[in-house]
Order: sequence, then structure tokens, then C-alpha cells
Amino acid sequence: MTSAKTESSPVVAPAVKPRTQFTLRVLRTERLGPNMVRIVAGGPGLAEFTAKDATDMYVKIHFLQPGVEYAEPVDVFALRETMPREHWPITRTYTVRWISLAAQELAIDFVVHGDAGLAGPWAAAAAPGDRIIFSGPGGAYKPNTDADWHLFAGDASALPAIAASLEALPAEARGHVYLEVETAADIQPLEKPDAVELTWVFRNGTTTDEGSLLRDAVTNGPWPAGRVDAFVHGERECMKQLRDVLLKQRGLERSQVSLSGYWARGRTEDFFQAEKKQPIGKIL
Ligand SMILES: Cc1cc2nc3c(=O)[nH]c(=O)nc-3n(C[C@H](O)[C@H](O)[C@H](O)COP(=O)(O)OP(=O)(O)OC[C@H]3O[C@@H](n4cnc5c(N)ncnc54)[C@H](O)[C@@H]3O)c2cc1C
Repeated sequence: MTSAKTESSPVVAPAVKPRTQFTLRVLRTERLGPNMVRIVAGGPGLAEFTAKDATDMYVKIHFLQPGVEYAEPVDVFALRETMPREHWPITRTYTVRWISLAAQELAIDFVVHGDAGLAGPWAAAAAPGDRIIFSGPGGAYKPNTDADWHLFAGDASALPAIAASLEALPAEARGHVYLEVETAADIQPLEKPDAVELTWVFRNGTTTDEGSLLRDAVTNGPWPAGRVDAFVHGERECMKQLRDVLLKQRGLERSQVSLSGYWARGRTEDFFQAEKKQPIGKIL
């Protein structure tokens, strides 16, 4: 509904963004493969967390900057009122792979992509007792059970959201899943309905023609009759290629597709997020 302000209509205050932070401790870590680590964090800080009814639920993790002194207990939203922007904690976005409010635990699966970046190296080195501060959650997708079949495609950054979505499908669901990872050593056992076929696509060190492996896998894969519900996320240039396959070649309606870039090669998340306002950053 659009609202135009008229003489008689009241001025409606803008919606207040949820600005609650959650502070947990790392409880345990688990290597899921050579390029992914699971962090299970928890504690009473989760008591106020309200989970979303979405299988792509994500949080914004706030990393304190080394060399900057933050007043304890750290309140990332309060300190933004007093500290210069360059001292604010740095934000990274991550899917909640699973959450147990009863046990006050949640798991986040981090791609470990070498020494570059903040979150990947942090996760690779994380140990029980480490602090993790985040806010959220966001997320909007859950499998459309009215669809005739489901399509999931993504790289390792989208694996947690795809894995959570597969677990939420009814047992009789049908579909195809394409997951692009480095090598066969990155394969993870995923829970899914029998009639959902899973194809692993291996980069094997390929860096040329960005995104073409996943594009080719989806283009050349089976395309059952009926209405598809698609969840497609990962590296930005790859997503542009898949956008063209799904919307232009296959003629899907926008409402059938959840598609976005989760990161962009050669960009930190800050840069990637800022580019969303520029032509290069626009996918849909
Ligand atoms: C809604 C949403 C959910 C997400 N969920 C997850 C998740 O569950 N797990 C996850 O691992 N990621 C997830 N991501 C992606 C993650 O936010 C980015 O990969 C982020 O850039 C990682 O931060 P960093 O500090 O490690 O690297 P940055 O400092 O942001 O980047 C440093 C360098 O590393 C490169 N880089 C960043 N990510 C990757 C990658 N995945 N593979 C290879 N190179 C990379 C960048 O291009 C850059 O050159 C999600 C993103 C969004 C928007």
C-alpha cells in the first residue's frame, strides 16, 4: 500500500530498525571441509532472539577493530553515536545454519577463503570462549510448497542457506540442487528429500570465465515441467549469469526467484554493499 500525506492523514513515523545486538561466546568449532568451518556459539544472550520464519535467516556480525578501545560492555549501536565512523566495528553478513533457542545455541558456517578478509580468517582461528557480537535477524525466503519443483543453486557462501532450505522441504518435494565448491573434498552430507537431485560442481582451481560453471550446470541440467521455485545466491557476477538463464532464457517471473549476490570477487563486503547502489552492483 502506498501512502500519500494529505491534509487529513496523520504523519506516520518511519519504521524503527531493530537495533538489538546479541553477544555470545564460541562454544565449539567444527571443520566441515578444507574450506569451511562451523562455529557454534551460544549463551543467555540468545534469550531475546526472535527467529524468522525463513530458511535464509541471516545476521550481521560486528567485528571489533584491533587497536580501537571500546567501552565495555560493548554496545555497537550506542558507540555509533559517540565514535567516529572509522572506529565502528566492521560488519559481515552470515546465514544462521541452525538455531536452538531451547539450548541457546546457533551455528554459522563460514567459508574459509585464505588470509584475505576479516570474517573468514576470524572463523578459521576461532576458539571456545571467543566473543561474537551480532544483530538481526534478516531473511525472507522459505520454500514455496505450492511449487511443482524446486531449484537451488549457489556457491559455498550459499550452502548454509540451501542446506537449511533443503531440510525444510516436505518429503515428497522434487527438485534440483547445484552447489559449486572447490573440490570433491568440500562435499558435505546434506539432508534432502529423495526426489531432490543434488549435483556438486567443482571449480578445481578454475578462475577464468567467472560464474560459468554454475551457469552451465543449471543451463544443461534437467528442467521439469511445471512451476519452479528458485533460490539462487552466491558470487555477484555468477548471479548475473544465472539471472539471465532464469529470467531471460527460461522466462521465469520475478516472484518465482530469490536471487542475490552474497559477495563479489575482489571486494570486501563493505565495498560490495556500497556497490549495490551502482550499476555494477545491481542484479535484478
Ligand atoms: C545474506 C547473506 C548471507 C551470507 N551467508 C554466508 C554464510 O553463511 N557463509 C559464508 O561463508 N558467507 C556468507 N555470506 C557471504 C559473506 O558475507 C561474504 O563472503 C563476506 O565478504 C565475507 O567476509 P570476509 O571478511 O571473510 O571477507 P571480505 O573482507 O569481505 O573480503 C576480502 C576478500 O575475500 C573475498 N571473498 C569474500 N567472500 C569470499 C568467498 N566466499 N569466497 C572467496 N573469496 C571471498 C572478497 O572478494 C575479497 O577479495 C553471506 C552474504 C549475505 C549477503
